[in-house]
Amino acid sequence: MISDQSSHPSDSLFASAKSLSSCLALSAEQAALDISHELRTPLTVIQGALELLESGRLGPLSDQGQRLIQIATSNVERLMRLTIAIEQESESIISLLSTEELARLRLERDLRHALERRQLKLQYQPIVSLATGTIIGFEVLVRWQHPTLGTIPPIQFIPLAEKTGLILDIGTWVLREACYQLHQWRQHYFSEFQMLTISVNLSCQQIACPSLPQSIQQILCETELPAHCLKLEITESSIKESAAAVELVLSQLQVLGVQLYIDDFGTGYSSLSRLLELPLDVLKIDRSFVQQLSSKRGEFLVRAIANLAHNLGIDVIAEGVETEEQALKLQALGCQRGQGYFFARPLDSQAIPPLICNLSTSLQVAGRVANVRV
Ligand code: C2E
Ligand code: MG
Ligand code: MG
Repeated sequence: MISDQSSHPSDSLFASAKSLSSCLALSAEQAALDISHELRTPLTVIQGALELLESGRLGPLSDQGQRLIQIATSNVERLMRLTIAIEQESESIISLLSTEELARLRLERDLRHALERRQLKLQYQPIVSLATGTIIGFEVLVRWQHPTLGTIPPIQFIPLAEKTGLILDIGTWVLREACYQLHQWRQHYFSEFQMLTISVNLSCQQIACPSLPQSIQQILCETELPAHCLKLEITESSIKESAAAVELVLSQLQVLGVQLYIDDFGTGYSSLSRLLELPLDVLKIDRSFVQQLSSKRGEFLVRAIANLAHNLGIDVIAEGVETEEQALKLQALGCQRGQGYFFARPLDSQAIPPLICNLSTSLQVAGRVANVRV
């Protein structure tokens, strides 16, 4: 006898499997909710304890201690987000992570190994003197050469490095690598490189680190680079937090002989008077102002910034100079230095000695500046 479809044994098996799986799904759902509720209380307690430790009220922490606290805080935050998501998402736990979140988690996992796998690379962008028509230094810009995703720009991975606390190790590596590179160039081509400087970007966590001056002093000592060759770029937002501690670090750096540049000037909202109380040597006008130079308003803003800096005895570097017209205007408005694609893009280290030493290539950049000076 041919059994009818509905009474086939595999059908009832399927039905019971289905009801079992929905039952399991339901209990998995319930278990997830229970776990989430159970996690909430200790996580809140841990968060409170971390905040207390971070505040310094229980005493100072070593660098390592601070780093651990940052990592623990970011992990607790992530668990908190997960518990909230579990409680809000009633259908499936798998769907808790969006494609973007999964991609970000993978990137974070890969970034943890980027340094040891030698995937971080530095590029050097020339900074030129508009007055003398020569290259006076370079800004050091980090890139991540990811094995499958290709080159990832800093704007994408520096925030991730800051969130995970990896920025402290990455920042130290950038500083050491850049100082060592300039030292190497000075050894091989002393007369061409002796006046050149490197500017390294610092993130807010590095500046908030009380041992930063000591670690920079050690790097300068190890790499035999004179302190006046190193410039540190900091943004307005990084000096807003923990004001007193940051001021102490900045003044210690000044004592070391390392100059401080304020980066992306005009994009933050810090108090101008407080900003200018700090031991700053150079103000970098943000690219967004340079882009507005074709308008009267843009011209007015750049002139106002250049006058302010001039009256305070601070030099100005205009960032993101892309056209000859912009370079000419900047020079007329009193900017001493410029940086941007008009002069040169960020370059790999191998491209720098030929640029500085070969007459033909260095003349190209100098020629552009010379045009500007006409
Ligand atoms: P930044 O310090 O303001 O660096 C200048 C950025 O402008 C660089 O982007 C540079 O490639 C780009 N740039 C230069 N000239 C021009 C131009 O003429 N036109 C345009 N459109 N762009 C120009 P990049 O390399 O992508 O770096 C972005 C930001 O990432 C940097 O901004 C800096 O804040 C951060 N960064 C880069 N390297 C490091 C690092 O080693 N440590 C930290 N903490 N931050 C870094
Ligand atoms: Mg910079
Ligand atoms: Mg900038």
